[in-house]
Amino acid sequence: MIDPRDENFTVGVVGAGIMGQGIAQVCLAGGMNVILHDVREGAAEEGLAAVFKRLARLVEKGRLENRDLAQMRGHAIAASGLDDFGACHLVVEAVFEDLDLKQRVFGEIEDAVPEDCVIASNTSSILISSIARICRNRGRIAGLHFFNPVPLMQLVEVIRGPETRPEVIDFLVAAGKRMGRTPVVARDAPGFIVNFGGRAYVTEAMRIIHERVAGPAEIDAIMRDCGHFRMGPCELMDLTGVDVNYPVSRIIYHGYDDEPRLKTSFPHRALMESGRFGRKVGRGNYVYDTDGRMIHPPSPDFTTENAAADRVALVEPTDALTGFAAEIGLATAEDDGAIPLLAAPLGEDCTALAARTGCDFRRLVAVDLGADHSKRVTVMAAPGADEALRDGVCARIISAGRAVTLVKDSPGFVAQRIRAMIANLGCEMAQIGIAAPEEIDLALRLGLNYPLGPLELAAEMGPENVLAILERMQAITGEDRYRPSQWLRRRALLGLDISTPD
Ligand code: NAD
Repeated sequence: MIDPRDENFTVGVVGAGIMGQGIAQVCLAGGMNVILHDVREGAAEEGLAAVFKRLARLVEKGRLENRDLAQMRGHAIAASGLDDFGACHLVVEAVFEDLDLKQRVFGEIEDAVPEDCVIASNTSSILISSIARICRNRGRIAGLHFFNPVPLMQLVEVIRGPETRPEVIDFLVAAGKRMGRTPVVARDAPGFIVNFGGRAYVTEAMRIIHERVAGPAEIDAIMRDCGHFRMGPCELMDLTGVDVNYPVSRIIYHGYDDEPRLKTSFPHRALMESGRFGRKVGRGNYVYDTDGRMIHPPSPDFTTENAAADRVALVEPTDALTGFAAEIGLATAEDDGAIPLLAAPLGEDCTALAARTGCDFRRLVAVDLGADHSKRVTVMAAPGADEALRDGVCARIISAGRAVTLVKDSPGFVAQRIRAMIANLGCEMAQIGIAAPEEIDLALRLGLNYPLGPLELAAEMGPENVLAILERMQAITGEDRYRPSQWLRRRALLGLDISTPD
């Protein structure tokens, strides 16, 4: 195999759609020769024209030299068939997402290229081994999974099939780097790294909506303000399109033999079946105008006319809870049987906390101190709680300059639940060897714009806290969805760094 840094390095791209064009563009930008082919007549020429139009815009913006653009034109060929592919050192397939089609195309590519040419698929959801099973030389078959839009998304997943030779992986990592990407190596398993790891954020949000704990606007505000995510899960779903993320959720859930941690909930299906795909159709979790701007999104902020409480008794006081009361100007006192009882449960709802401690659930007001609460505070109370006392505590928080989002009684509020699920899924990915812990973190930061990778998130929350949240959620709900990953359990119980290898 040739060194991918060689000046004559030639990449064949099969399929000149959205992804094929993007892949051709980053190859040209990396100084490689590109042969683009599409089965539809004229599509390869149109694809290259679109690529060069985008590159010309970069020249206008001063981000690319005219001289380099001229050179790239000399490096690109639109091919009507695979006859020219005899010169390829690497072929990347980006045809429709269909196993039978991809198998057929791989057979054709194998017949057209030299024996030492590496052949990679850009598939998002088909196993590389399923495509490779019809190939003669399976050691040179792998995945090279780019993200849309390719020139802007830095990440590329290099997928190691069960029969892929180690030098083929090294070759693809080097080629990916030359394309200006950051490659991470992943195991050939449903959703690879990013599409698997991304399931927790969306499916737990759907679950929270299903249980009527909170609505989309409230969940999104909490995850942005308290969890530091750039977008909340519901607005993100509307952006990527429910017609994309619902089928992906189902494929990965079934791909892992109906693993409950990956299961989505009825509201997701309801959006799908009613055609509320999100921004592109004007409605989804929110309503949009024709320019894709949200119309009258509901406010996530709780408001009250109640007078602010000035005294509370603390239930199971910790430094964090005492500090929070002081920050918002709440005096703490002995319980006199009438004042609000303030608590900061971890993984428990108010009901479980009251039952365990014997405190008066009617006066119990819980605040989530498990994530950032400097801007927005999530508050919850048990069914049957004294609303006047609860609202008095909310009024105190608001008067201290913080927004309040009031949610229904829920083990783990909203942010604890979603963040613990993300951390747990990341740990499970490490456990089953989807990728090395650092690569899982890197992939989710780059691929999904997460503020932290899932294992970094577990470290920030404290592995013992994530374990406690999940164990309590599992005990309260009786659901295996919340069972802790063994990777997490071992590191939390042994007091080890979360990325400690097995
Ligand atoms: P697309 O529909 O935009 O393009 C597919 C192209 O393949 C079309 O131009 C079609 O004419 C061509 N084609 C079909 N059969 C062919 C054949 N036998 N030989 C040559 N060309 C053929 O699709 P896309 O969005 O570019 O997706 C391509 C692949 O990339 C899929 O496997 C998809 O899952 C994957 N992918 C897509 C995205 C995304 O966001 N769109 C992201 C990552 C991966």
